[in-house]
Amino acid sequence: MEQANLVIIGAGPAGIATAVEAKEVGIENVILLEKKGHICDTVVSLYHEGKRVDPVYRKVKVEPLGKLSFETECREEFLERMKKVVEDHKLDIRYWNEAQKIKILEDSFIVQTGGELEVKAPIVVVAIGVFGKPVKPSYPIPKEIKNKVFFALPKEPLKGKKILVVGGGDTAAETACFLSNDNSVDLSYRREKFFRINPTNMCSLEGCCDAGKINLLMGTDIEGLEGKGDRILVHFKDGKGQEYDAVFYCLGGMTPRTFLEGVGVEFEGNKPKIDEYGETNIPRLFLVGDLALLKGSIMAAFNTGKKTIDGIVKKYKDVVGLTT
Ligand SMILES: Cc1cc2nc3c(=O)[nH]c(=O)nc-3n(C[C@H](O)[C@H](O)[C@H](O)COP(=O)(O)OP(=O)(O)OC[C@H]3O[C@@H](n4cnc5c(N)ncnc54)[C@H](O)[C@@H]3O)c2cc1C
Repeated sequence: MEQANLVIIGAGPAGIATAVEAKEVGIENVILLEKKGHICDTVVSLYHEGKRVDPVYRKVKVEPLGKLSFETECREEFLERMKKVVEDHKLDIRYWNEAQKIKILEDSFIVQTGGELEVKAPIVVVAIGVFGKPVKPSYPIPKEIKNKVFFALPKEPLKGKKILVVGGGDTAAETACFLSNDNSVDLSYRREKFFRINPTNMCSLEGCCDAGKINLLMGTDIEGLEGKGDRILVHFKDGKGQEYDAVFYCLGGMTPRTFLEGVGVEFEGNKPKIDEYGETNIPRLFLVGDLALLKGSIMAAFNTGKKTIDGIVKKYKDVVGLTT
């Protein structure tokens, strides 16, 4: 078993920012566990190629509080930036190590991974985000059409298809615009008006609609899906039906409640109970990033890393080996 002063679970924006802020204040022996073979899996797996990464997300402008910040840039530039942060700060990331269990001992934790690795540390910061678990619709998705229903963009690009995108936020707008380059796209949203889409995405969406590439289905709700030949028949609640080659759901992510409750973290409604530093009801167990935020974004995730390290320095200086 390895020993660390601090274990961070997840090497996304929040986990990396937490490790950087920890180094800045002099905390040594910080281990990051990452379940994939790369950093920032949400950006790698869910952002489409060339996607604009905006610091203003969900219409919220967040000013940077700590060391990490960025301006609008594309997905690939953002990932390069983050790789450089990891290299410059010599972060100790253990790839392909999915944290599966956190055991609570009297004065420390043992984090067990799917592989051989176990790490013992007095403080654990959980930075696993919410996008590992996409929100799914309430109706069932029949088995025979599962390969045509998506919660993220597939590796193989779709071309010449009739596609339905479902959702009303920035991701739905960006996905619809991206897919409309090579496909015919309908965008279904259950409200009559969009209110969560940022001005840049709204402008792109309007451009695609004006060019006849996207057809908006406002105020539409889906009752269910059915296989029809090699297509999907979408039943809308107003009784209408429409056939598509593929359906994309962009409904956001879900807090990994089972994992957190399994550790003993208490919830208030849908959100875990935390204090201003991200500390849960379990002393020395912190949450950062999307897990700790009502409206998650990259800049807000960076800031939670800074706040959590401020809290650790304030309350647990000795525990993490800081003497001054
Ligand atoms: C399509 C899309 C577009 C977006 N566009 C923007 C944008 O333009 N601007 C913006 O600010 N925000 C955007 N967001 C939101 C932004 O991506 C999130 O707010 C941000 O990634 C949250 O960071 P995080 O570190 O909390 O979690 P994540 O980025 O989700 O990182 C979590 C990391 O933890 C790892 N992990 C998960 N479980 C485990 C485990 N058990 N053990 C070890 N590792 C684990 C994952 O592999 C991942 O690397 C977008 C989101 C999506 C889905």
